Amino acid sequence: MEDGAVRCLLRATNFAAVKHKDQRRKDPEGTPYINHPIGVAYILMDEGDVTDIEVLQAAILHDTVEDTDTTLDEIQDVFGEKVRSIVAEVTDDKTLPKAERKRQQVLHAPTRSHQAKLVKLADKLYNLRDLTRATPAGWDQPRVEEYFQWAAQVVDGVRGTNKALEAKLDEVFRQQKA
Ligand code: NDP
Ligand code: ZN
Repeated sequence: MEDGAVRCLLRATNFAAVKHKDQRRKDPEGTPYINHPIGVAYILMDEGDVTDIEVLQAAILHDTVEDTDTTLDEIQDVFGEKVRSIVAEVTDDKTLPKAERKRQQVLHAPTRSHQAKLVKLADKLYNLRDLTRATPAGWDQPRVEEYFQWAAQVVDGVRGTNKALEAKLDEVFRQQKA
């Protein structure tokens, strides 16, 4: 029996929930980490009108390889080659120092596939909204501003991917400057 969309999405959600189970976001409340990947997939569907199941699965899984012990081979075994390749495209090279990873994201963003660019847009939108809502413990205003500037560079590299998401991002950037 071929897997239906609901089965695919629940499998990805459960996989990510298990993998991120001990992690928290950086906001002062320490929100459970899983809220983020679920929220990124929800933004894609609800605000970006994205219905591509592989993109939605990759959104739910997008931080599992970067932030947990999950491997890309494991993603491929459970979710197939396409989801693996989208997750790989949005995963930073953890062998590089953090500042270099950020530079690489800006550099490579324009070369990513349409599906990976969608995940990137929704990921940045979620994180910028999160920063607008509450400043992470230990962050000062210049650090928040530095993050916005970096995110704006990544977003500029993937423009022309999804009008609605890009308009929402522009709104967040406008509000930050005001
Ligand atoms: P980041 O600046 O990369 O942290 C932001 C990342 O944390 C997001 O991309 C997001 O990634 C995740 N995240 C978790 N919770 C939240 C939240 N509530 N709101 C927004 N994002 C959240 O931190 P790192 O420590 O990884 O990076 C260090 C970099 O920060 C250095 O390269 C340097 O450039 C900069 N820095 C600047 C300082 C300054 O004072 N200006 C001081 C120290 C570092 P995900 O989507 O993967 O969850
Ligand atoms: Zn993320």
